[in-house]
Amino acid sequence: MTIDLHTHTTASDGTLTPAELVHAALRDGVDVIAITDHDTVAGIAPALAAAAGTDLRVLAGVELAATHGRHGLHLLAYGIDPADGTLAARLHTLAALREERVRDMLELLRGLGVAVRWEQVAALARGTVGRPHVAQALVEAGYARDTGDAFARYIGNGSPAYLPSARLTVAEAVGLARDAGGAVALAHPLLSLSRRELVALLPALRRAGLTGLEVYHSEHDAAAVRYLRELAAEQGLWWTGGSDFHGAAKPNVRLGGVAVPSEVLAQGPFQRAMSE
Ligand code: AMP
Ligand code: ZN
Ligand code: FE
Ligand code: FE
Repeated sequence: MTIDLHTHTTASDGTLTPAELVHAALRDGVDVIAITDHDTVAGIAPALAAAAGTDLRVLAGVELAATHGRHGLHLLAYGIDPADGTLAARLHTLAALREERVRDMLELLRGLGVAVRWEQVAALARGTVGRPHVAQALVEAGYARDTGDAFARYIGNGSPAYLPSARLTVAEAVGLARDAGGAVALAHPLLSLSRRELVALLPALRRAGLTGLEVYHSEHDAAAVRYLRELAAEQGLWWTGGSDFHGAAKPNVRLGGVAVPSEVLAQGPFQRAMSE
């Protein structure tokens, strides 16, 4: 069984529409996908519609940006009701803040002599706007060779025109997910934190309501996976995994390309989501 519980569509910064993602999953023999766009659930309903009557199972999710002290973290919420009105309203506010943040980043770029207009970036985003759209605009305007170069020189974490997108605390993100029936896992823990930092932060993250850990991810090697599986077991956290597929925006990441054991669906928020 092929399972991919971390995917992005054009509702955020992926390059496939929700229907195209569903068709790609069917073509590639993927059995279960979760759609986890950044700060939006707009991709879920169209994906469910495209998957109706097929063997593909589509689960609802969302990847929330949050801050914890000086750390910017990504949180994956699953088991949420994508039609929940309160969730939609809160995500709408976050999307507006994302736009403001990108406008502020363009200001910083202007200060560096790099002139990219908001309209150029907005034209590239079909859903919630993010740095990949800024990167593409920088390439199109001739300021960067490719998106990797744009991140390295201008907008990557810690670069001169970088601003964090996170406006929620972990507790707020957990509350938002819980109110919509879901639960929250820390996404790709070892991309944002060292093992030491992760272990040091876990008690506070758990107090804030975090109950899961993303173990399998395109950028976690075998040693990282082993470490995180053990950590999750030891701490009584449910675990998850997926490719973090973004289509052409991350050409090296294949849909269903990370082997996620099927036991994943028997625990955490997946157990109930699968029985619905
Ligand atoms: P944002 O949510 O706007 O901060 O953008 C985060 C997204 O940018 C991630 O999901 C990745 O798709 C992409 N990203 C982050 N760092 C890099 C990088 N160094 N090179 C290419 N893409 C990146
Ligand atoms: Zn992304
Ligand atoms: Fe992420
Ligand atoms: Fe992601």
